[in-house]
Amino acid sequence: MELVYDYIGIGFGPSNLALAIATQEHAQFYGLSPNVCFLERKPGFNWHEGMLIDGSTMQISFLKDLVTQRNPGSHFSFINYLKERGRLQDFINLKTFFPTREEYNDYLGWAASHFAGQIHFGEQVIGVEPCFEDGRFVAVDVLSRSADGGTSRRRARNLVFGIGGVPQVPGAFEGIDDPRVLHSSAYRGGIEQLLAEHSGPLNVAVIGAGQSAAEIFEDLANRFDNVNASLVIRGSALKPSDDSPFVNQIFNPSFTDTIFQQTQERRESMLQEFRNTNYSVVDPELIEAIFQRIYQQKVRGEQRHQLLTQREVVHAEVGDDIELFLRNTADDHQDSQRFDVVILATGYRRDYHHQILAGIREYLQGPEVDRNYRLSLRHGTDVGVYLQGCCEESHGLSDTLLSVLAIRSREVAESIFADSVESCASRPSSTRERTAVPLKLAR
Ligand SMILES: Cc1cc2nc3c(=O)[nH]c(=O)nc-3n(C[C@H](O)[C@H](O)[C@H](O)COP(=O)(O)OP(=O)(O)OC[C@H]3O[C@@H](n4cnc5c(N)ncnc54)[C@H](O)[C@@H]3O)c2cc1C
Repeated sequence: MELVYDYIGIGFGPSNLALAIATQEHAQFYGLSPNVCFLERKPGFNWHEGMLIDGSTMQISFLKDLVTQRNPGSHFSFINYLKERGRLQDFINLKTFFPTREEYNDYLGWAASHFAGQIHFGEQVIGVEPCFEDGRFVAVDVLSRSADGGTSRRRARNLVFGIGGVPQVPGAFEGIDDPRVLHSSAYRGGIEQLLAEHSGPLNVAVIGAGQSAAEIFEDLANRFDNVNASLVIRGSALKPSDDSPFVNQIFNPSFTDTIFQQTQERRESMLQEFRNTNYSVVDPELIEAIFQRIYQQKVRGEQRHQLLTQREVVHAEVGDDIELFLRNTADDHQDSQRFDVVILATGYRRDYHHQILAGIREYLQGPEVDRNYRLSLRHGTDVGVYLQGCCEESHGLSDTLLSVLAIRSREVAESIFADSVESCASRPSSTRERTAVPLKLAR
């Protein structure tokens, strides 16, 4: 008989990694034996490797790791990772809540290594198809393609998306396919290669006003003596991100209920009110470092690196170099400047799941999910489709971030396995006691 998974996780970044852990702990607690797998297009685990800039730090406390807010005694806490790596005491002496991204990537990779048997790396999900039994839509076939072009088909009763975002390319750059125009997600690796192919000074434009743009600008200025970097932003100044404690409460998992209960209109205004926590804003310390750098240039009478403020790229032409046509957002005046490389630190789109779900679109009732992140499907459908990371409009700004992973993963796991838990609860208690394994606590 064909294997039918309880769920297939699409993508294996932090969201589905947290789900893998929540599933394991949930199953141990209730004595279940779920059959799950994850399909990840990368060849191995890596978290935003294109932005692993030396010294860059996390923007959330390590206590918001994969598990602690749900189960502080979990084997998979950041603290237990430190203990296993032999760095717990040294980390304490760092006196920080904010590890480097390099270390956090290592933590996530360590956690992921425990689930090696469930993950199929190097497989990109390309579509899904419905499976019927006695006229009911009971399962879904997931089609994936591997690097060598081969395709696979796996069947599941539930699908859980954790695919992150797709690089957002501004209109002016649409249709341009040139290695000298790269998205921030491919910065590390990409910039080194371009520099290796180029001798002499290199004029690099970084487009964007957010954290990634500022980090790249600073990294270029810091690391490469032959780079002249220009940060092109629409606004008149870099703005600081607000992570003050009252505002930070919007990232508490409990805030998800608060926002989900609002009318759509109210949600939109709340998202707008708190946009300056995450979008087009920069960590204040980094703003100060950039200001200091520009000031120091003035002291020396240099103008190597610059901020081009109130500029919107309206058109780009690629030839021997890249000509950017810039509109001044204050007075509409237009001029152009030439660069050797353009880096688009212009964020991510979160709509890619629609493309993957095209094969079952007619069974979806709409784009909205319920409180447990489950899409509404039409009557006569037993399949569950869960979305993580693309529910900002209904579940708030934390949905695309790491803050709620520990709790959201439990909510999704509980929703998927609700029926199994019910049937486990209806078993005689002696059977339950024999099968239920207590949560494994870190020693
Ligand atoms: C540079 C950077 C730093 C960040 N720092 C923080 C931070 O400090 N704090 C914070 O809260 N948030 C941060 N974020 C936000 C970020 O979204 C989250 O950190 C986190 O990555 C979300 O996890 P995810 O699993 O939902 O998505 P992702 O991490 O994007 O993982 C999605 C995975 O799905 C895979 N995938 C995509 N499509 C397919 C497909 N069709 N088939 C198979 N696999 C697929 C991808 O390869 C990827 O591995 C940062 C983002 C960036 C870009």
